[in-house]
Amino acid sequence: MGEESELGSGETGGWGFDTRAVHVGQAPDPRTGAVVPPITLSTTFAQDGVGGLREGGYEYSRSGNPMRSAVEECLASLEGADHGFSFASGLAAEDVLLRAALPSGGGVVLGNDAYGGTYRLIDKVFRPAGHPWWAADLTDPAGLDEAFPEGASIVWLETPTNPLLTCIDIEAIADVAHRHGAMVVVDNTFATPYLQTPLALGADVVVHSATKYLGGHSDVVGGFVATSDAELAGTLRFLQNATGAVPSPFDLYLLLRGVKTLGLRMDRHCSNARAVVDLLVGHPAVRRVRYPQLPDHPGHAAAARQMRDFGGMVSFEVADEESALAVVARTELFTLAESLGAVESLIEHPARMTHASAAGSALEVPPGLVRLSVGIESPNDLVADLAAALDSLG
Ligand SMILES: *Cc1c(COP(=O)(O)O)cnc(C)c1O
Repeated sequence: MGEESELGSGETGGWGFDTRAVHVGQAPDPRTGAVVPPITLSTTFAQDGVGGLREGGYEYSRSGNPMRSAVEECLASLEGADHGFSFASGLAAEDVLLRAALPSGGGVVLGNDAYGGTYRLIDKVFRPAGHPWWAADLTDPAGLDEAFPEGASIVWLETPTNPLLTCIDIEAIADVAHRHGAMVVVDNTFATPYLQTPLALGADVVVHSATKYLGGHSDVVGGFVATSDAELAGTLRFLQNATGAVPSPFDLYLLLRGVKTLGLRMDRHCSNARAVVDLLVGHPAVRRVRYPQLPDHPGHAAAARQMRDFGGMVSFEVADEESALAVVARTELFTLAESLGAVESLIEHPARMTHASAAGSALEVPPGLVRLSVGIESPNDLVADLAAALDSLG
């Protein structure tokens, strides 16, 4: 394992977010002075005698790699966590986290519009292995408290949720979960640590699809887990090595390069989303706009309290599935594609695309729903593109 660098998260509590994004885990290379941490492709590392790892040295790249240490230190610092773990995808991170945190037979309370892949992992992989799960309306902490499922050891929440962008009061849910002896996992993919730090609000673990805003350029798949629970961290470290779903050094390099501009990008995603929301709110073809900044949005008050700004994701409903399919087919700048959180704007139809696996379940989404990932392009161009597609509905 690599030693904590001199810019390790422990000594940087005083730095602002953007300073930590650029510098933590990324001190100039002590040998060459390289300002950018070099990618170490070597799978194995010379040892000074049997069992003699070099000072600050590594052993084998599944168990540890310098670029992985850099990413883990930096992202843990951004989440305000003592420990961070990188994985080859968001779902690999979730898989290891569930294995680490679920006791034998323990179950999961899952917010009722969770990411489709999370639902699939919990329902199709962990339920058959003896871990029950329950869908819950996490906008109602008192209701959860009254009907807290016996045997639930994790409450798993997203805020804002995907794709309905409902916002959940992290502090209130953490209070309820902890009263019932359960731990709280927050999927912070949509907000990112720039907009929201769940551990500071009482959550026990944060999980990310780093594929989205953290990477931010649609060119790397990755996952991340952050926690300050030392015992859980030990299990995560063990399973990261034992199950081996680790990212490559080049993927980690791309991720770290993306993270440096996270704050800048998020500010632009948020302001562009506002421009798009202004158009949607006034458009006759739009039945309902879902954006956490809107005063009538479910959880607006929680979002205003716990988020720095309201994010780059916007969902809206048109009359029916046919109209939704027409809109997503007619935009030009907004590319029809799954995924989200990168510099280019994307549009998709959750019921038939990202959330198709939830059809017929408690997590099914409305057929007229369209989801936007608003990118960092010039706002006027985005608004004009969307207006043209909506106007064509007649
Ligand atoms: C994409 C996504 C995931 C899964 O991450 P992958 O990197 O695709 O494995 C989990 N949660 C949310 C909210 C996501 O958007």
